[in-house]
This record gives sequence, C-alpha cells and structure tokens, in this order.
Amino acid sequence: MPTDDRQNTDRQLTVPLDVRAACRSGAVETGEVPLAALPRCRDMAPDGGQLAYRVGFFESQGVQPLAAEVHIEAALALECARCRQTVVTPVTSTSQIRFVFSEDQAEHVEAEAEPVILGREGRVRLLDLLEDEVLMSVPLMPVHDQPCAEIAAGQAYESGELPEPSGEERENPFAALAALKKDPGGDQ
Ligand SMILES: [Zn+2]
Repeated sequence: MPTDDRQNTDRQLTVPLDVRAACRSGAVETGEVPLAALPRCRDMAPDGGQLAYRVGFFESQGVQPLAAEVHIEAALALECARCRQTVVTPVTSTSQIRFVFSEDQAEHVEAEAEPVILGREGRVRLLDLLEDEVLMSVPLMPVHDQPCAEIAAGQAYESGELPEPSGEERENPFAALAALKKDPGGDQ
C-alpha cells in the first residue's frame, strides 16, 4: 500500500465523519498508519509497526441502516502465553458495524454485527473504529510458532553467540562497504 502523506492520514483518522452522509455516499476510507498513532493500541505496536485499514460505509437493508465494514491488518507485539517473551503476531480482522443512537437500538442490532453508539451529531472518528477493531483482533493466547525454548536460544545467538553459518554464505551488509574501503584507488 502506498504511504500516504502523514498529515493527511492523521486528519483522515481524527476528523469526526458524518456517518449518515458517509453511508449514503458509500464512502470508503483506506490507508496505512503507524500502529503507535492509535493511543489505545500503542502498547502492542512493534517498532515501526504499521496498521493497514479499509473502512467501507454503506446503507444496510436491516433494521439499522447505517452500516460499515471495518477491515484491519497489522502485526501486534504481544506477550507469549507460554514464555512471557514478546511474540509479534500478525492479525487480520473484519467486522460489520451498525451505527445506532441508543443502548436500546444497540440491543436490536443483528447478531453478526457490532453496534457503535453515536452521539446526537451522528459522527464517528475512524481512529475509534480502528482501535476497537485492533483490540478485538488480539488473540486470547498468543504463543510463539516455534517451541519457546528455541526462540530463547535464538535470542542468545543474536546477542553474540552466533552458530556456524550453515550452507550458503550469508549476505553481509557491510561487505560492500569493506570492499569500498579496501579499494586502493584515490591518492593513498
Ligand atoms: Zn513463547
């Protein structure tokens, strides 16, 4: 996904949208933002972690006509339920939203949809919808794919005890630089 102009993205997320108008016109909001830009999700943001989103507003045929589909994709830094170390877990989540104006209306939203209660002005911030969706997508028991002991061993290797490189030579990002320095060209 292209990286939007940052300011533009911030505004897109925080300006309260007129839900009726958005649903009537079938507005679609897409983008990608740093996960850390969502206050309620900041604790789960890996370094440089991005959130990709798509929110499509539409008019539903159901009892509550103001509707949207919210889709998010992100990688969350969570605590492994086995070893308590950080495990970065990719999540993707899609929800059907029905916008309502009271608790009573919220109770009558169809079972497969999530009610969002609007204030009198009938506006919503994308930021709030996205935060809700991210929080809903968090797995109950995140665990490392590999046995956790191997992960711990991997961390030991990263901290200096490198295993013998296996098979093909690893690409060394400094090799090119070293070659440049060794180059006997110039006046030396
Ligand atoms: Zn683990």
